[in-house]
Amino acid sequence: MNDLYSRHRQVLPDWLALYYDEPIEITHGEGRHVWDSAGNKYLDFFGGILTTMTAHALPEVTKAVAEQAGRIIHSSTLYLNRPMVELAERVAQLSGIPDARVFFTTSGTEANDTALLLATAYRRSNTVLAMRNSYHGRSFSTVGITGNRSWSPTSLSPLQTLYVHGGVRTRGPFAELDDRAFIAACVADLEDILGHTRPPAALIAEPIQGVGGFTSPPDGLYAAFREVLKEHGILWIADEVQTGWGRTGEHFWGWQAHGRSGPPDIVTFAKGIGNGMSIGGVIARAEIMNCLDANSISTFGGTQVTMAAGLANLAYLLEHDLQGNARRVGGLLIERLRTIAAQLPGVREVRGRGLMIGVELVRPGTDEADPRSASAVLETAREGGLLIGKGGGHDTSALRIAPPLSLTVAEAEEGAAILERALRSAY
Ligand code: PMP
Repeated sequence: MNDLYSRHRQVLPDWLALYYDEPIEITHGEGRHVWDSAGNKYLDFFGGILTTMTAHALPEVTKAVAEQAGRIIHSSTLYLNRPMVELAERVAQLSGIPDARVFFTTSGTEANDTALLLATAYRRSNTVLAMRNSYHGRSFSTVGITGNRSWSPTSLSPLQTLYVHGGVRTRGPFAELDDRAFIAACVADLEDILGHTRPPAALIAEPIQGVGGFTSPPDGLYAAFREVLKEHGILWIADEVQTGWGRTGEHFWGWQAHGRSGPPDIVTFAKGIGNGMSIGGVIARAEIMNCLDANSISTFGGTQVTMAAGLANLAYLLEHDLQGNARRVGGLLIERLRTIAAQLPGVREVRGRGLMIGVELVRPGTDEADPRSASAVLETAREGGLLIGKGGGHDTSALRIAPPLSLTVAEAEEGAAILERALRSAY
């Protein structure tokens, strides 16, 4: 055990999960690569869990942060804050939500917590609908809407949560249904729940489940849900913490794959927007955002320095059409991985869109999740110079691929080749 690892174990909580048998210490990065303290170079297919949206050490972001830090890092939200107003204007305009208001937080957890605060206050109900297998954060309220038991460390939630089918269809009673029948079964499940509960405040859902293993429901599922929710006046909260900002290629927001019935009532975001600087936030129609009957403030939400990073990062993303790049390069990578998967009985499915790709592993010849092989592939890929993630439902048996959105075709091919070797050594 290296010295830093043993010191980590002495002073940090056991539940602070670490990757790899011998955890690595990343010391610097550039573009789509990072280096560890032993001097090893890695192609980064997990982007600091999707926080590095554009590229590591992007000069435009570094310069914006340094210039802002040289003037003032933060002046508190009690005073006017130009970068915060500018980023809010940008985000509101990109959101597609009419008369949008934006509130900045420091994390996805706090963003979802705020969304719950708004939705429960607006609807005067503490009953919430969430999806099975979901992940929405680590706070007391957000673990209460997290349907993935591996990430929900207490059952003492202040909310009454009811879990709806639809997030995952890899296994279970709905697995064999085609898209239309699956959507119909999930809508029937939702209607059944609504027939037997107090009126819920909201349904919260990740358009593609992140921690849950990049599981993608069929397009249109949430539009179908929306019709039912509207009849009952229930709000729809889209958790875009992983799916936002063009990562899914075809769409700027994940919900747009389900967009027939218009934008969600509330959108939450975090991760990529700051390119590693801690920005989260909530977007909602003014009527919902302004429903609170007392003040609410986040001391660190919207610091000038993080907002400067967000503005520079977003400008780079849009100017260089990284959403288009995610669509093109992600499409090639998905195709390449599907070709590899077709030759390997342990790879059940390559799914996702753009640069958000899940690879589901099973014990060959069975339908059983294979978390051991997932861990083994992660280790072998690292040895080969590639960082990837893993996730899934109750078993962590999916590989997660989410590189910075500036990934080149050559890098996609290099990563696929390393992953192919790692998969072949596991199966
Ligand atoms: N929502 C989703 C969909 C997430 O993936 C995450 C983080 N993995 C969160 C919320 C929580 O974000 P944070 O870790 O920034 O609090």
